[in-house]
Amino acid sequence: MKIAVIGTGYVGLVQGTCLAESGNDVVCIDKIAEKVEGLKRGKIPIYEPGLAELVHRNTRDGRLSFTTSLAEGIREAEIVFIAVGTPQGDHGGADLSGVWAVGTQVAEVLEEPKILVIKSTVPVGTNAELARRMKEIARVPFDVASNPEFLKEGAAIEDFNKPDRVVVGARREEVADKLHELYAPFLRTDRPFLVMSPESAEMTKYVANCLLATKISFINEMANLCEAYGADINEVRRGIGHDQRIGFHFLHPGVGYGGSCFPKDVRAAIHMATSKGMPARMMESVDEVNEAQKHVLFGKLKAHFKDALGSATIAVWGLAFKPRTDDIREAPALVLIDALLKEGATVRVHDPEAIPNVKAIYGDKIAYCDRPYGAIEQADALVIATEWNEFRNPDFEVMRRLLRQPVIFDGRNVYDPARMAALGFAYEGIGLPPCR
Ligand code: NAD
Repeated sequence: MKIAVIGTGYVGLVQGTCLAESGNDVVCIDKIAEKVEGLKRGKIPIYEPGLAELVHRNTRDGRLSFTTSLAEGIREAEIVFIAVGTPQGDHGGADLSGVWAVGTQVAEVLEEPKILVIKSTVPVGTNAELARRMKEIARVPFDVASNPEFLKEGAAIEDFNKPDRVVVGARREEVADKLHELYAPFLRTDRPFLVMSPESAEMTKYVANCLLATKISFINEMANLCEAYGADINEVRRGIGHDQRIGFHFLHPGVGYGGSCFPKDVRAAIHMATSKGMPARMMESVDEVNEAQKHVLFGKLKAHFKDALGSATIAVWGLAFKPRTDDIREAPALVLIDALLKEGATVRVHDPEAIPNVKAIYGDKIAYCDRPYGAIEQADALVIATEWNEFRNPDFEVMRRLLRQPVIFDGRNVYDPARMAALGFAYEGIGLPPCR
């Protein structure tokens, strides 16, 4: 099939590339000329495991191309995906200006019927409103379907290729059938292709993200309670997780969720509720608990160093909002760095992929280290903010030698507290009792 994807971010570039890999002819469109020029030369603007190889192969084989021209990019396409950003706008709701702009441009250049598919996460009613706006402009009939994306950054290719389910909101059966044909190669026998109304499809994405965010805020609140009463959240997790109604997934305590999805989607859901005069008490609490959790590590550092924190050097391992991505949008590590800088502390950081993005924000206010051990040299404490695999089994002897004081604050409970105590570290995780 001939496909166009508008927006070459984490979602659009993965979507376009994986569809090309399954044999479709794909044109990816972005309004940022620099990005498109880079992609044409094989420069991948984001870090996503496995993506670069796939982009290179499919570009070389002629199935994947890039352009800034929307008119040119969509001309041949039967299906046009919209994967532009929908960031948080004023009053917490989603900023849909990108979606409206793209819809208008598509309607203006439409010469034959096409299926427009909204991949971006958008509030309920966007599909209908986009169709209404486009109808005022377009000279030919078209369809607008909704197909929310559930991939996880850091495992995006894998998620796209093996989705748990594909959700499609369509008003006409032919449209759903066409999308089914496109997705069939990715659907294993036990994975459903779910057709529903566009409104339900739009809502499904918010309900999924709100529930996932709720699980994180829930376990974080419970972890803090464990800590206050001397219980151990790791033991409690085992105690609850074997209950099949509960399970283990997405119940890891930490320093709060970040990224470009959960924070803004929870707030957009709150906005959807309040716009209808309805309460959104659960979601408001989820957001509030999460924002507070992002300050937990700073609180621990302050309690440990007291007034001396201002003259301390703190090393931070992990800056991306989660491992295996370079995405730092709403990352908890940045909240910690801001608080440390405000306190006057010196900050040394390491992340395997996110340093260029962090440098763009902090410039020379903090020190950047290519290697994890470089960051802890002469530091008074190490903080782990993101659980990259390479932090899981370091040489603790080397670490003890390099750190000025053997102190670790672990925001992701990567290490075993008993082992850390045996190795002579002062160690604090999230929701753990004092080292025994
Ligand atoms: P992103 O910010 O990484 O990328 C968006 C891209 O769209 C950018 O390259 C931007 O230049 C381009 N763009 C914006 N307006 C444009 C226009 N008018 N014409 C052409 N290009 C334009 O965003 P993302 O993380 O890929 O997210 C895209 C959407 O998918 C959002 O709605 C997001 O909520 C949703 N989503 C994201 C993820 C994720 O993990 N990132 C997962 C599921 C859903």
